[in-house]
Amino acid sequence: MEHAATDNIPFSSLGLDLQILRAIEEQGYTTPTPIQAQAIPHVLANRDLMAMAQTGTGKTAAFTLPLLQRLLPHASTSASPARHPVRALILAPTRELAIQVGESVEAYSRHVPLRSTVVFGGVDIKTQKPALLKGVEILVATPGRLLDHVESRNLMLNQVQILILDEADRMLDMGFMPDLKRILTLLPRQRQTLLFSATFSDEIKKLAQDFLVQPVMVETARRNAAQETVKQSVLLVEHDKKLNVLVDLIRSRGVNQVLVFTRTKLTAAQLARMLNRDGIAADAIHGDKSQLERIKALDAFKSGATSVLVATDVAARGLDIDQLPLVINYELPPHAEDYVHRIGRTGRAGASGEAISLVDDSDARRLKDVEKLLKRELPREQAAVSSALRSSHRHAATPVHSKKSAAGDDWFMKPYEPSPVSAKKAEERPAARDEKPKKQIAALLRK
Ligand code: AMP
Repeated sequence: MEHAATDNIPFSSLGLDLQILRAIEEQGYTTPTPIQAQAIPHVLANRDLMAMAQTGTGKTAAFTLPLLQRLLPHASTSASPARHPVRALILAPTRELAIQVGESVEAYSRHVPLRSTVVFGGVDIKTQKPALLKGVEILVATPGRLLDHVESRNLMLNQVQILILDEADRMLDMGFMPDLKRILTLLPRQRQTLLFSATFSDEIKKLAQDFLVQPVMVETARRNAAQETVKQSVLLVEHDKKLNVLVDLIRSRGVNQVLVFTRTKLTAAQLARMLNRDGIAADAIHGDKSQLERIKALDAFKSGATSVLVATDVAARGLDIDQLPLVINYELPPHAEDYVHRIGRTGRAGASGEAISLVDDSDARRLKDVEKLLKRELPREQAAVSSALRSSHRHAATPVHSKKSAAGDDWFMKPYEPSPVSAKKAEERPAARDEKPKKQIAALLRK
């Protein structure tokens, strides 16, 4: 199975126990796949996770490895079933997938004293009972058979700490929603939930709303698809001319939706502000913005009220903004992998799209990294700086680096602050973990 390395992070840097690393090595894996590199740290940090990943991406190890790590403190060599309650429940839509996942769990856990088993329909339920009665920490199951076992009192689910929904989209397609809802009532409310799906359909978003709490989104880049349908180019531009060139580009292309990427939250906020001053309706989404503000920004972008959305890589993850005609990299990302992710936002589903990167001297190394990852050189062109900005803030293109511009406008020196209206709205949010966030996520994900 071929997998691209993600910046060549070694497995050993992910904080996994030596016995887990040993099992990985025995599988012949050398570097984590992108989904593994992205997901494992979040799972270890006890975050809920919504991951868009197909079979073949290495998703099984992406959830199993950190799951094993998290359960290690509970590992016991005792023979008593009471010492081996189900602590991790992995739900899969089909017996084939359940078996496959079960085999992976077994392989990855071979050197740690955690027990696992697999239950699925279509076979005599009695054959599965002994393993359950002996006690298992990790249970892989299809939903219907799991409920049969619960009814037969072969197992309890009240100590489950981690729930994994694998191929969630298929589970819904197969009509498992009622079963899933019943299973949910049997689990502790305080738990970690990980959802893996090949697509983020409206139904999946609804499921996430019901099952997950403030999930982190991770998405594997659609490397090939994006590269085939997206016209990519590089505009070489002096650092302090970037804003002029960006404004020119936005105006001259005549497209009504442009996604602009920056490296930092500060640049994102400043850029949106400068574009607005120049008569281009823009907003920013980044990590310092409240969920409400992000929802507002995204809705405005989708409805056409704003034509430019400026985003950081983290804030753009998992956002459902498909089919964009134009993505502009105002700055190249620190991780080349993110470039592929960014340009994957355009040219989806066979539609043509364009991705333009504004590259100055300080971006040179990052451009090299991107080209190395793409295994090709991108066409370069010298940017023509034609129009003067309408606003007087011409130096705003360099807000982060330019002391001169910062001195000219106090605003640049301030950390991000929400606007009074959205700040007030944010205050209205209840703080309780499982109340409002679900609604906010749903709105954020809504098409
Ligand atoms: P999955 O997407 O979980 O079904 O995994 C697809 C295949 O990738 C399986 O055959 C795994 O054994 C293999 N695999 C998973 N992680 C890695 C890795 N880091 N390096 C190489 N192969 C892997």
